[in-house]
Amino acid sequence: MEKSLLKVKDLEVVYKTDFETVCAVNKISFDLNQGEVIGLVGETGAGKTTTALSIMRLLPFRTGKIIGGAIELEGKSLLDLSENEMRKGYRGEKIGMIFQDPMTALNPVTKVGDQIAEALKYHNKEKMTTVDIDKRVDEMLELVGIPAFRKNDYPHQFSGGMKQRVVIAIALACEPDLLIADEPTTALDVTIQAQVLAMMRELQERLKMSMILITHDLGIVAQVCDKVAVMYAGELIEQGRVEDIFTGQKHHPYTVGLFGSIPNLNIETERLEPIDGLMPDPTDLPKGCKFSPRCKQCMEICKTTQPKEYVNGEHRIACHLYSSSIMEEGGCKHA
Ligand code: SF4
Repeated sequence: MEKSLLKVKDLEVVYKTDFETVCAVNKISFDLNQGEVIGLVGETGAGKTTTALSIMRLLPFRTGKIIGGAIELEGKSLLDLSENEMRKGYRGEKIGMIFQDPMTALNPVTKVGDQIAEALKYHNKEKMTTVDIDKRVDEMLELVGIPAFRKNDYPHQFSGGMKQRVVIAIALACEPDLLIADEPTTALDVTIQAQVLAMMRELQERLKMSMILITHDLGIVAQVCDKVAVMYAGELIEQGRVEDIFTGQKHHPYTVGLFGSIPNLNIETERLEPIDGLMPDPTDLPKGCKFSPRCKQCMEICKTTQPKEYVNGEHRIACHLYSSSIMEEGGCKHA
């Protein structure tokens, strides 16, 4: 039986300033087993990165707040850990993260080998000596396809793709159980994207890690993921196995819209069909279904009442088309 690694249950996150409250993540739940890859998909502003930062407990100190729900890793509640416990035993050790932009993730005045060694020295659970750490740095560079002799180079001596490989090496140095990759190939050109993705999938399989892959690209999801969770306006509106999302019969209208926005080489189309309209203002979310102002199938009930989830095995869709059950009214209640 597959062993559960991560459980996120009813997670709610807000950003609060003196003037407004942004409801960034609204009661999302998903599970991840050991060795599985889940793709978190959605437009910019859907709450994907906020979800990742909540798991890492790296939300902006003054404004970001987790106001409800639970996050458990191997049965341990991450939200109950002190900052010191999080830093010493979890962040970088059990959970690694690859940030969006490799150009800013690396320190420009430190040799790349030293940046990989830093993570190893900080956690150093195996009590490695300096020689061991040096050897491990070489191994990590070779693992991501960079010759070990380049450890004495600085980030500006590497191309974008090579810098991203270094960032991946840093994230993997301590062999985390969970790797969060936040749009790891967005800053790279298409050919390098494919190489980096293939390498990440190979490493994930070899090291038997679980991975949360944040992306807005469904093509990447099809190549790399086992499960998919589609986010919209801070909610998970559809989730399931890759086959549920790519070949299943029932879909949330937003997921249908996402698929309509990508080219299909097997179908002749004159124009791609984008989803009309924009993501709602997160300080003033619509009542009922958050997608209702943009949905071509919107009904009266959608404007006032949150849809209940339709559930079929692991496939879940939050839409009145599949479930007419009524949940409580209203959008975010924390404004
Ligand atoms: Fe469209 Fe209604 Fe479904 Fe929302 S609940 S996606 S508005 S049909």
